Amino acid sequence: MTVDNIIDGKAFAAGLRRKVAAEVVRLKKDHDITPGLSVVLVGNDPASAVYVRNKGEQTKEAGMVSSEHRLAADTPEADILDLVNKMNDDPSVNGILVQLPLPHQIDENKVLAAINPNKDVDGFHVTNVGRLWTGSDALVPCTPLGCILMLKDRLGDLSGKSAVVIGRSNIVGKPMAALLIAESCTVTIAHSRTVNLADLCRDADIVIAAVGRPEMVKGEWIKPGATVIDVGINRVEAPERGLKEDGSPKTKLVGDVQFTDAAGKAGAITPVPGGVGPMTIACLLRNTLVAACRQNGIAPPPI
Ligand code: NDP
Repeated sequence: MTVDNIIDGKAFAAGLRRKVAAEVVRLKKDHDITPGLSVVLVGNDPASAVYVRNKGEQTKEAGMVSSEHRLAADTPEADILDLVNKMNDDPSVNGILVQLPLPHQIDENKVLAAINPNKDVDGFHVTNVGRLWTGSDALVPCTPLGCILMLKDRLGDLSGKSAVVIGRSNIVGKPMAALLIAESCTVTIAHSRTVNLADLCRDADIVIAAVGRPEMVKGEWIKPGATVIDVGINRVEAPERGLKEDGSPKTKLVGDVQFTDAAGKAGAITPVPGGVGPMTIACLLRNTLVAACRQNGIAPPPI
């Protein structure tokens, strides 16, 4: 492993946020438009509350207008749909994000389908899924967008490279595959039924791990010089760090890739934490800027 082969997602995300902030200043100066992002949080999930707070802070830091709607866990589905419709009609709201997961009485698909696709900055609406796969102007899900930006920054032209995406979820694996195909990679999508995963990885120039299983991808699976993007975020016990006040072992975050071994083989690799994670909110800000431009008939900046 060399320090050079570790992709610093934190620094890359800070750079993207600076570029977005500069474009927000320009949009205000040239067109008197300030992009607005509205986030809806239903219930009291502590992890979701932290995400929403971070999103709000970074939205304001980028010079955009941030609004939050915090609703009780027992809010009826109809009330959420009403709120989404109001935001769809509000020209000061350019991006709408409903924080998932939603409480059980609410049909997530129904809520996502109610969002105006042009304001769907998470990129989960079926219209944006279709636009992404057919190569038209989509709002692209933030995490895979962050991965492709880091890959292009590191490797330049991706054309002809072989890529394995491990995971086929709608929020990471599938859009990731679509983005790699759009860059003319040859893409294999692996999942829990894939039988020869190690061999597929050994042949790949690019490995994207989006599984949610700690250190499942072994260093020996990585082709020398390959680029490894680790999307996984897994909290595991770390007894080497000592005990918490309640006597249980302290914990730490690890990715889906055995980092130290893989870093010894890879040409470039993202760490966890500090790799893909910070890019997700930066890409949300980028999507909000793009949405604001398109809604006002302005060509989005190439960032
Ligand atoms: P999902 O649980 O929705 O999908 C996991 C995928 O992994 C599924 O397609 C599943 O296959 C596949 N899988 C499970 N076990 C295996 C296996 N043994 N071999 C190969 N494939 C397997 O997860 P997400 O896509 O939502 O998230 C993946 C990871 O990324 C998680 O750790 C999550 O926390 C993290 N994440 C990080 C983000 C960030 O900001 N950095 C944002 C979003 C997610 P099958 O379809 O057959 O079940």
